[in-house]
Amino acid sequence: MKFSNVSVLNADFSVSKGIYVETEGGVISYVSDQPPDGSPAVACAGMDCGSAPRVTSGAPAMTSGSVPGVTSSRLIMPAFYNAHTHSPMTLLRGYGENMVLQDWLEKKVFPFEDQLTGADCYHAALLAMAESFSHGIVSSSEQYFFCEDILRAAIESGAKMNISRGISHFDGSLDRSRYRPYLESKKLYYDNHDTQNGRIRVDLALHAEYTATPALLEAIADLSHETEAPVHTHISETKKEHEECKARHGGLTPAAVMAKAGVWDFGGLAAHCVWAEEADAEIFAEKGVTAVSCPASNMKLASGIAPMPLFLDKGVNVALGTDGTASNNSLNFFEELKLFSIAAKVRYGDPTLITAKQALYAATQAGALAQGRENCGRIEQGARADFLVLDLASPSLNPVYELADNLVYAGSSRDILLTVCDGKVVYKRGEDGTAEFPTVDLERAIFEVTRAQRRILGALPEENR
Ligand SMILES: [Zn+2]
Repeated sequence: MKFSNVSVLNADFSVSKGIYVETEGGVISYVSDQPPDGSPAVACAGMDCGSAPRVTSGAPAMTSGSVPGVTSSRLIMPAFYNAHTHSPMTLLRGYGENMVLQDWLEKKVFPFEDQLTGADCYHAALLAMAESFSHGIVSSSEQYFFCEDILRAAIESGAKMNISRGISHFDGSLDRSRYRPYLESKKLYYDNHDTQNGRIRVDLALHAEYTATPALLEAIADLSHETEAPVHTHISETKKEHEECKARHGGLTPAAVMAKAGVWDFGGLAAHCVWAEEADAEIFAEKGVTAVSCPASNMKLASGIAPMPLFLDKGVNVALGTDGTASNNSLNFFEELKLFSIAAKVRYGDPTLITAKQALYAATQAGALAQGRENCGRIEQGARADFLVLDLASPSLNPVYELADNLVYAGSSRDILLTVCDGKVVYKRGEDGTAEFPTVDLERAIFEVTRAQRRILGALPEENR
């Protein structure tokens, strides 16, 4: 894939114009203001690019700009890394709205999930992959069950995925040789970790402190020590969960309980952290745990606004997640970027908090780091070719004072022309606005998901429909 005379969003979120970018074998092989053949770069302001080299392979015409005063009207920027989601929950999008969290979980979500099959999760995850690509997400940290089926959706669609088997345990003792979720988690790791040329990674998971026994914490801590895998969990999503944990554990927060059990000795991902405290941020910094903010889900369920500026102050890696579409209800990362920034401003009554550049860092480099993808999240020679091509001629992106601010506060998925994962086009928006998903049969995914939805609703008692 070759691009000439494009703008590039750099790792510090400044912009370089008139740049040549090439990819080869899934890697960004060339980024320079000089063309690869050594002849001088041509900066063009109009559709006619004169002698500027044209796109030569792989992608739709991305060569020249048409905006007066803008050298290149195409922007290449890093793709997004969704650090917390449950992809098969596309099946539950819009199912049980305007309900209190516990009531919603017990009356709607859990009975519905009891009816799910592996095939349902595969089709629902494929739908999530297509939606993710259309919003610029190329990689997701997942926590669910039927993980092999979800993985199949990622592998076939060309997405990157950090899969983890969510585990809960409510009885006192745990026989590691017989407890199915634990055995599945272990097998998932040894069968799939670091496969598909690194596209697929496997993390360990605990659903949450309040759904785990000490025996489960110990089992997962031991497995993490054995595999050196990080542990993905939900932390302090609601005030109730946070306070009840402290009452049960002599003042220890959910994060402190995890750390004390050795669960995070090889790092981890802590989703939500809405009610987390300053001491928790210190634990995260010490243990190398990423705090994953899910602002849309937290606000929709009225859980609150996470104290992410506090985590950033302590040097914690802070990433962004959508959470599942049951509670969000979309995988719209541009929406998440904006909410992440403005929610912090509201919580603290301080508009200087969480700048657009900090939000972009969380959505790209921090997310990639949380997933153990150190060569991802930047448009640089040698990095994996995960990127978006945006239309800078979009009305909402002009005029430009600081492009990062436009992207976060005015940008939208409608501005995405191309989503590329490991050098492969996974989403393309044509000149006439039509969306193409070269790696997902979207029509079939919608058909299968709708069929599963009907079957499951038919099997549920009246009060759960
Ligand atoms: Zn979640």
